[in-house]
Amino acid sequence: MANSLVDPFGRAIEYVRLSVTDRCDLRCVYCLPKGYKDFAEPDTWLDFDEIERVISVFGRLGVNRIRITGGEPLVRHNISHLVNRLSALEGISDLSLSTNAVQLNKQAAALKDAGIQRINVSLDTLKPERFKAITSGHLDKVLNGLQVARRAGFSPIKINMVVMKDINDDEIEDMIEFCIAEGHTLRFIETMPVGNTGSKATDRYYSLAKAKERLEQKYTLLPSSLSGGGPARYYQIGGTDLRVGFITPMSQHFCETCNRVRLSADGMLYLCLGQNDMVDLRTPLRSGIDNDGLEQLIMAAIARKPERHEFNTQPGHVVRFMSQTGG
Ligand code: SAM
Repeated sequence: MANSLVDPFGRAIEYVRLSVTDRCDLRCVYCLPKGYKDFAEPDTWLDFDEIERVISVFGRLGVNRIRITGGEPLVRHNISHLVNRLSALEGISDLSLSTNAVQLNKQAAALKDAGIQRINVSLDTLKPERFKAITSGHLDKVLNGLQVARRAGFSPIKINMVVMKDINDDEIEDMIEFCIAEGHTLRFIETMPVGNTGSKATDRYYSLAKAKERLEQKYTLLPSSLSGGGPARYYQIGGTDLRVGFITPMSQHFCETCNRVRLSADGMLYLCLGQNDMVDLRTPLRSGIDNDGLEQLIMAAIARKPERHEFNTQPGHVVRFMSQTGG
């Protein structure tokens, strides 16, 4: 399908990250503060009919990839039912999900049956005590969720590790060995200053350029490519099947190839992860806008997509939490 969503910088938008809730059953230190309660109210969340309508219009405009995220998407009631509906939409050929895996043991099979093709799982440490300190949760649930997901047919699973100075930077080699043994793909991510985690994120920042140099002492890193259209730069670890991706929003941004926008649970269309620009789709949806009107609104939004984030020059500029837009 022809893509009608090309922004002023010539970037075709073919990918929507769809946040289905801003709530989460973990409290990762870089994402949601402990005790945080200021969540959106469920009646402001788009319901499944509204989500289906918005995504079908994106599909008509040329978007073909949807990633379901959150908050934690598995805490949204009946999420596989939504997946089922989205997977039936014309134009949507790639449906994936990002999760912390805490509830994958119960939901992996239903998600696979409903049409999720690929999953990404956040995992920053393999040490139970450290996992508790970073997320307030239990590592065994995540490891179990990963096993169940693999048995349900998700393969390879992508592991996302946010690398933080003096918190888990000593585990990058361990995570590589774990992913080799388990057959997962691994992606390292730099901490971004979003929400009120801004200044702390700067303190915890660990450059992935440094991590790569460190890994090159121990492994052979062969440049590799992996389909998915995301921002990771991939390498294969010599002598193994493991692919390792580096996502470097801070040390080497990739805004010039940005192909995505983000829809929050409460129906706001965010045009850049690192900027505050957004367009309210919920109010027009609830005021009876027709599909042509929705198309016009989305095209006008894309025409306002910022050129790039300013995490380095303006840390703390984005005050919303990552759980609102789903990373
Ligand atoms: N709960 C799901 C998960 O764990 O994947 C989806 C939402 S979560 C916000 C998406 C991703 O954003 C996770 O991999 C998380 O580690 C990452 N993330 C959250 N805050 C971040 C930050 N300040 N810097 C870098 N990555 C962050």
